[in-house]
Amino acid sequence: MIGLISATAAGAAGCERLAAAWPGRTRVYDGAVGDAVRRAFGECEQLVCFLATGAVVRLVAPLLGDKASDPGVVCVDEAGRFAVSLLGGHGGGANELAREVGEVLGAEPVVTTATDSVGVPGLDTLGFPFEGDVAGVTRALLDGEAVALQAEVAWPLPALPSNVTYDEEYPPSWVVPTLPQALGSARAGGTPIALRNACPQRLCVTDRLIEPADGQVILRPPSLVIGIGASKGAPADEVLDLIHTALRDAGLSSLSIAELATVDAKAGEPGIVEAARRLGVPVVTYGAEELAAVDVPNPSGAPLAAVGTPSVAEAAALVRGGELLVPKRKSSRSDGRPAMATCAVVRRPARGRLAVVGLGPGARDLLTPRAKDELRRASVLVGLDQYVDQIRDLLRPGTRILESGLGAEEERARTAVAEARRGQAVALIGSGDAGVYAMASPALAEASDDIDVVGVPGVTAALAAAAILGAPLGHDHASISLSDLHTPWEVIERRVRAAAEADIVVTFYNPRSRGRDWQLPKALAILAEHREPTTPVGVVRNASRADESSRLTTLAELDPATVDMMTVVTVGNTATREIAGRMVTPRGYRWQEGTE
Ligand code: SAH
Repeated sequence: MIGLISATAAGAAGCERLAAAWPGRTRVYDGAVGDAVRRAFGECEQLVCFLATGAVVRLVAPLLGDKASDPGVVCVDEAGRFAVSLLGGHGGGANELAREVGEVLGAEPVVTTATDSVGVPGLDTLGFPFEGDVAGVTRALLDGEAVALQAEVAWPLPALPSNVTYDEEYPPSWVVPTLPQALGSARAGGTPIALRNACPQRLCVTDRLIEPADGQVILRPPSLVIGIGASKGAPADEVLDLIHTALRDAGLSSLSIAELATVDAKAGEPGIVEAARRLGVPVVTYGAEELAAVDVPNPSGAPLAAVGTPSVAEAAALVRGGELLVPKRKSSRSDGRPAMATCAVVRRPARGRLAVVGLGPGARDLLTPRAKDELRRASVLVGLDQYVDQIRDLLRPGTRILESGLGAEEERARTAVAEARRGQAVALIGSGDAGVYAMASPALAEASDDIDVVGVPGVTAALAAAAILGAPLGHDHASISLSDLHTPWEVIERRVRAAAEADIVVTFYNPRSRGRDWQLPKALAILAEHREPTTPVGVVRNASRADESSRLTTLAELDPATVDMMTVVTVGNTATREIAGRMVTPRGYRWQEGTE
């Protein structure tokens, strides 16, 4: 809940606007402001105060607890010009709230959290649990001091600034000693291993149970899969105890648990469900047949009889591959009764991340916020040079940019997938929608199921052009590319003919280039066999870019010489009309009778 507090009429109006914009998300606190702030602070996750920052600082100061639990606080000035993220920028979500408030009120969001203003990812926003000296390492990141990254598993991280160097000296098998271990080793006359960690600031990516030393942050990637077998009625405490003991004995951190895995028949087993809930991880289940096919070290007869597979814990943990770190072990019960749960622990192979991101037709405000987030989530960017230029300013410093020229599509697709397979967070970009005559299909044709793929839709040229022309796509429509570089002309012609016969509105992509000039007239002639010469045709060049232009003409009058590769051509159906200079395709002939 977001608590809203104000002292003046202008503030009260602001509260009302936020309450109206976010139904169900807000509560207005009336009465004396001091009391209102105190109540809201105790009851809400976030506060928006239409008060001076100084007043709010004085009011909340005695209420402050810690960063993790205090609400996020945003202040808005009397004139509604600024939404200031005052407290709980990351943890309390105040930075994001300031942006949202800014959008509703037309106010400028003011964010002063260091990592947000200089493009360095906050360690607490990387999406992994973390432990250690966050303040110290963040300060070092910002101050440009040397920070070593020790990645035991190559889990996909966003770009880190150039002062972060991958620690080559301690390749993936390294173990950071805890301080007592290091001292012990030194005392025993061994190598003083702590000295190896002389670089004071470190970022470690590991699932091993190690203590963060001074100046260290340990990021916990979701790398551990816990396979669980349980008899009917196994208590959650017994399951949890088993998991924690198994991890502790193996020197692994429970913060790296990705999921609990078991057999379908146990999907609703209350002890497993509750254990997962308390750990904050999902339960993933597999069919008995699939589990029975997994090669495991410790099969047994009991689960075979009960659920139809000789192994549940080991098989469910191993079924998607990985390294078995803890073979099957049973729970122990203080009352001496038989164990009711088994578990096995597997380190799953690191999965790289491939985001296929559509940048929209050109204008910055037609780039979706999600696309922006994915660009900032990536450490490697792959794309056509001219598209990279379009978004270079959005990338985090340190992002590795692999750009190439026109015609290198296959190479780009292969590079993007190969980088993701290496465990990187990759963004593969395309203009418009990256799945429309663009990079998504060649990339996914290369990719196997060992990487995660995320698609971000973009505004494709046909839609950008339609919005400029009016409403040409109001009824069934198709896009057809006239490029016969990779598609035989006969195939293209057959599709144009089918669209012509089916009376479908058609948008032509890649309509004409210097070397390809006869295809567009030919395609238009085919459509003209089934449509009047007066059928409206919209020609849009560089939609949403600086030199945008558009023209509304007809099938008979279109001059192909005015069309080039920066253009899309939209041909109406037999019902499309020009109305007040706009291209309009009716929703349907019986629309007025209310049949749609
Ligand atoms: N993935 C892109 C299409 C790539 S094919 C998308 O979804 O929009 C390239 C063709 O798209 C160009 O030849 C042109 O016909 C069209 N196109 C792309 N961007 C355009 C724009 N801003 N204005 C007009 N046409 C555009």
